[in-house]
Amino acid sequence: MILFLPRPISIANLSNNIITFLYEVRGKGTHIISKLNQGGDKLELLGPLGNGFDLNIKGKIALISGGIGIAPMIYLAKELEGDIDFYCGFRNEVYYIDIIKEDVDNLFISTEDGSLGHKGFITELFDPKKYDVVLTCGPTPMMKKKFGRCVKI
Ligand SMILES: Cc1cc2nc3c(=O)[nH]c(=O)nc-3n(C[C@H](O)[C@H](O)[C@H](O)COP(=O)(O)OP(=O)(O)OC[C@H]3O[C@@H](n4cnc5c(N)ncnc54)[C@H](O)[C@@H]3O)c2cc1C
Repeated sequence: MILFLPRPISIANLSNNIITFLYEVRGKGTHIISKLNQGGDKLELLGPLGNGFDLNIKGKIALISGGIGIAPMIYLAKELEGDIDFYCGFRNEVYYIDIIKEDVDNLFISTEDGSLGHKGFITELFDPKKYDVVLTCGPTPMMKKKFGRCVKI
């Protein structure tokens, strides 16, 4: 058995008593997770932890994700009610967008290499004036850029 401190991973979906995690292999911990075998190996989970998102928000909502920051936003899009526009940015490989499509009004995609959707950063597509609430998860520079735009309103 391998023991190491827990790594924070978001709940990407919860349905029929099955929890889905979506993770990117970054270092040692996520590499070990990627080598686990279905049916035999076991993981210890602690949670849910953290504050979560407020699900009582109303109005026109923008969800903005960058890279693997999409993970918590998938479940959030399912749980929120209202008008939701989902903006997801990727470096090159695009994932999980078919599942998201079912739960949102509009889906905007960007890739840095231009392989799908807008070529560039997702923040370039986003106009904060169109929204009552903006929720985001992703790399800090992306969130800072988005937040900078929001406070100008
Ligand atoms: C709230 C939150 C939610 C997240 N949700 C997701 C998600 O849904 N999907 C996803 O892919 N990523 C998610 N992340 C990012 C994810 O937690 C990191 O990518 C992951 O921790 C990387 O772990 P690693 O061991 O692969 O990488 P590493 O870079 O090897 O390790 C990560 C950290 O653990 C430390 N560490 C390494 N080994 C040890 C050890 N033996 N003992 C103690 N510390 C050690 C490192 O110094 C480093 O700070 C989330 C992060 C946060 C904060």
